[in-house]
Amino acid sequence: MFKEFISKVLQHDKVAIFSHLRPDGDCLGSQVALALWLKKNGVEVSAYNEDAIPENMSWLLNSVSIKKPRPADLENYDAFILVDGNALHRFGGVAEQILKTDKPVYMIDHHPEPDDIFEVPVSVVSASSTCELIYHLYADHNVDQIDEEAAKAMYLGMVTDTGSFQFDSVKPATMHAAADLLERGRFTPNLIAEKIYSSRPLRQLKLLSQALDTITLHENGVFASITITQEMFRLTDTSSEDTEGFVQYPLSVEGVKACILFREDDNGRIKLSLRSQSDDIDVNKWARNFNGGGHQKAAGAHYEGTLADAIKDVIAVGAEQL
Ligand code: 5GP
Ligand code: MN
Repeated sequence: MFKEFISKVLQHDKVAIFSHLRPDGDCLGSQVALALWLKKNGVEVSAYNEDAIPENMSWLLNSVSIKKPRPADLENYDAFILVDGNALHRFGGVAEQILKTDKPVYMIDHHPEPDDIFEVPVSVVSASSTCELIYHLYADHNVDQIDEEAAKAMYLGMVTDTGSFQFDSVKPATMHAAADLLERGRFTPNLIAEKIYSSRPLRQLKLLSQALDTITLHENGVFASITITQEMFRLTDTSSEDTEGFVQYPLSVEGVKACILFREDDNGRIKLSLRSQSDDIDVNKWARNFNGGGHQKAAGAHYEGTLADAIKDVIAVGAEQL
């Protein structure tokens, strides 16, 4: 899968890797594991993200530092690699200027409908996570180059992008890869689970308790919504980063096939997170109606307008798929 990618990428001297805005475990794990791979194979590498790294994943930075990019940084590299996203705008304002440099831009990703601007794009929609793909990059080259740091980074992305190996994107091959990472990295699953799931500040649970109270059913219980307002952030001294994972709760209501999280952000926009657990409801299509996107079963977008209008409009568009 990676033959051409490997032979081309290893010809560059200096490469910059970008992970997507509002970084998650999969893009950060991919970025770190890929940076370690490039270093091991003689390529000088930098890692960039425009947003802050979530507190519970800051341990990744012990092996690779991730910096905020400035436009002038782009001049320092021979090539760029984007991980876990397939359109430049997902990576922020500096990344959007990459094309102006006329240098090759590579991509490793598992989202549908990639842009066609990439050099040897590695785009595998059926992959559980971009980290599963990075595992195959190592395996296609020299699997013994997976060290403890790289193994933990890749395992993190696999756990977080699969809802702890619960989604239907998990295949036997996913589990084989994860098992190999556990062996090579000499760690047990609880180590990563504790780092990412047992480190919530109390205020986050207070916010969750307010959000749970807003869960509402729509379209005869086929859809559910959950809402988070600026007022809730104020009352609990939290911010948008504290809502990670909240979208799973409305989906766990009996009979619900798809759900939407509506989050009032401080820029006056409403952030939408959509999830489906039915093959009949495609939330990627749904989100594209609002200039967003993602996967068939997990997608996101932003809505310009009030919370009440967002709920009305977004539910109405989703209902067209029923
Ligand atoms: P989340 O709801 O967790 O923010 O995102 C779920 C999925 O949708 C992720 O795979 C993410 O890449 C994608 N996604 C989230 N927000 C956007 C967006 O604004 N545009 C696009 N194209 N994809 C998004
Ligand atoms: Mn991903």
